[in-house]
Amino acid sequence: MHTKTIKQLAEGLRAGTFSSVELTQHFLTRIEKFHALNAFITVTQEHALTAAKQADKRLAEGNAPLLTGIPFAHKDIFCTHGIKTSCGSKMLDNFIAPYNATVVDKLHHAGAVMLGKLNMDEFAMGSSNENSFYGAAHNPWHENVVPGGSSGGSAAAVAAGLAVCATGTDTGGSIRQPAAFCGITGLKPSYGRVSRYGMIAYASSLDQGGPMARSAEDAAILLQAMAGFDEKDSTSINEPVPDYSRHLTESLQGLKIGLPKEFFQHGLNNQIAQDIDNALNEYRKLGATIIELSMPTLTMAIPAYYVLASAECSSNLSRYDGVRFGHRCEHPADLTDLYLRSRAEGFGSEVKRRILMGTYALSAGYYDAYYLKAQKIRRLISDDFQHALTQVDVIMSPVTPSHAFTLGEKTADPVHMYLEDLYTIAINLAGLPAMSIPIGLSADTPEAPKLPVGLQLIGAYFSEAKLLNIAHAYQQVTNWHQLIPTGFE
Ligand code: GLN
Repeated sequence: MHTKTIKQLAEGLRAGTFSSVELTQHFLTRIEKFHALNAFITVTQEHALTAAKQADKRLAEGNAPLLTGIPFAHKDIFCTHGIKTSCGSKMLDNFIAPYNATVVDKLHHAGAVMLGKLNMDEFAMGSSNENSFYGAAHNPWHENVVPGGSSGGSAAAVAAGLAVCATGTDTGGSIRQPAAFCGITGLKPSYGRVSRYGMIAYASSLDQGGPMARSAEDAAILLQAMAGFDEKDSTSINEPVPDYSRHLTESLQGLKIGLPKEFFQHGLNNQIAQDIDNALNEYRKLGATIIELSMPTLTMAIPAYYVLASAECSSNLSRYDGVRFGHRCEHPADLTDLYLRSRAEGFGSEVKRRILMGTYALSAGYYDAYYLKAQKIRRLISDDFQHALTQVDVIMSPVTPSHAFTLGEKTADPVHMYLEDLYTIAINLAGLPAMSIPIGLSADTPEAPKLPVGLQLIGAYFSEAKLLNIAHAYQQVTNWHQLIPTGFE
């Protein structure tokens, strides 16, 4: 049951082949069995079984939405009423959210059954899940390898068949990079497409929630339930949500694919480059033409992002002061001591590093030199994409410079870790939608295990339906998205 798609499971539920309670129990048993993956921070067993019973009732009554009775899980960044919402941090280890994020409400109303809350880098800062207060999740393709981050728990859970699908969030690549590392399909929607209300803020102008699933078809179903205008989020866009599943099967004849040459220069692993070539050949067969693009501003994305994201995080995280909620130190001597020690004890070292960098970049003497400069670069990058997307329908690129790396390999050098985001970060700066789909597996050698490879698809604003269509067409003629890591069959 855990290798089936949402559509197949929905059919099984409607045909009475199994009930949602049975399906949910099956996933709960697997979560327990594969506990060592550390994909979950909290498993909400009772909550899940109650929701599954309700789903069975709704299914029996007929006319239930497609997600009714489907077991899934939320990244632990989405507030869930009455349930611990930790954001991967000691700071919020004791935080029981008093309300639901809009995305949580939406999936609840769609009848989906939440199994629990998934592991992630602390406050979504990281590319390997190693910044989690709860320890890193592991990649189901190899236990010594990272699942990517920050939505590492989400990717690991879906790849290992511990949830049918999952939510993730992406500020600079955190849906796409773990999706690539774990061999699943992930979509970062256009900024404003999915409500950020109740999604704990890291860098508000970049954060966006999205679906992580086994296929583009499943991602379309999940996105459908997540997307839409929300008056509680002032940056939410009041645009109608198209029927994503309806556009999946459109022809790709005449599709123009752009390849930014800056993304195929030094630094890209040879085998990944080869896998991308093979994928492009599939697209040619489907009727697409490939056009080389030059987007010179892309090389400035990483420095601009790490200034802006840090600046925004230093402001967003000032709310964790030990007073209103979250970790509070013992026996503070006075108010200042309370602030200082609560924050010193509650935050991990990467979060502290970013708060320091961000505060520095925003300080009076350096604001123009760093923050303002980075904002200008952001505009240039955005313009570069706008221009490129007048020439082509979609831009394709690698998702990651290399395959998933070994646990501990990059933790000593933050800059090394930041370079992981080379191909994903510019897209957040521009606010565009982008996907990662699996397109290959590395060779299985004694030195290195078999690991998945992702391809990035980048589209114009609100072109999620087109991206899903392009991804689905590829998944109809290849089977990379169906591969299951050994031991999780
Ligand atoms: N790796 C990037 C960072 O650490 C992106 C994280 C994200 O998208 N949430 O900021």
